[in-house]
Amino acid sequence: MLRQYDTSVTNAISFDLEHWHSATLLSDEVDDPVDHIADSVSIVLELLRRHDVRATFFIVGELADEYPGLVRNVADAGHEIASHGHTHTPLFDLTPDSFEAELQLSSRAIEDATGVEPLGFRAPNFSITRETRWAFPILESSGYQYDSSVFPVRTPMYGVFGAPVRPYNVSLDDPFSSSSESTARCELVECPLSVADTRFPLPIAGGFYARLLPVSVLKEGIDWLNRHGVPANIYFHPWELNPDVRIDCSMPKRFVSFTGIEKTEAKLDQLFTSFDFGTVRTMIENEATAGSVSRQNTVRFGRTDGTNHTEPRS
Ligand SMILES: [Zn+2]
Repeated sequence: MLRQYDTSVTNAISFDLEHWHSATLLSDEVDDPVDHIADSVSIVLELLRRHDVRATFFIVGELADEYPGLVRNVADAGHEIASHGHTHTPLFDLTPDSFEAELQLSSRAIEDATGVEPLGFRAPNFSITRETRWAFPILESSGYQYDSSVFPVRTPMYGVFGAPVRPYNVSLDDPFSSSSESTARCELVECPLSVADTRFPLPIAGGFYARLLPVSVLKEGIDWLNRHGVPANIYFHPWELNPDVRIDCSMPKRFVSFTGIEKTEAKLDQLFTSFDFGTVRTMIENEATAGSVSRQNTVRFGRTDGTNHTEPRS
């Protein structure tokens, strides 16, 4: 018998829109890559259309400059448009000044392509960590309403072990804590990537982890979060649904980059069938209704583009 899951919690699904070869592990493997961007995006848009799911697309600004029509199609399909930086440079390689310039350039490129001001940000390689916490006040002063870059795991490349798993208003004094003792919370909301503490901490947020793990384990993780009233926040890259991007490279790089790529679309098909999903923005609006984050954000969301793509599905 098929197991029934709770669909009263709307989870967030997002796609980081960048060239497949801009992944750190692959960037030096190809001289003249086929970009695959249009076919990868169309696989994702068709999958979302089949399930009537709206997603958030974190878009690299340079890509919006390069493919304005493609980015406009994503926005026209009712998906949320957010920023993934301008040049996909991790914050570890930026200064506060150059990060601020990246935000301005990416906002302008995305707005030029779509007419929509991005209000959400995701750092390339989840590079907002304790080392780059200077990013939070810059995001806030640049007009961003939320960030979704904190990964509460410890990995060699990124992660803030022990950070909250539920969206929270950031305290600029103590940005990786949602405890009530830290004061001076700002309107900027952090939406961490999902880790479910089932039998052991399980990074189910997507990408490599979701390609590696069986779909039953992903479902267990999302179910665990939802049973605790916490929405899951998971992400993929459009190219991770397109097996045509595979290239010959060393075994470790091949393993991290392409493991499970032929099954990603079918996994997402199953997740969309079993659980309710929407944009990151919808997740924040629902969290505001539940009283977990400040209401100011929902006001700003409504004012900015004048539309409402994000009604939770009934
Ligand atoms: Zn990225």
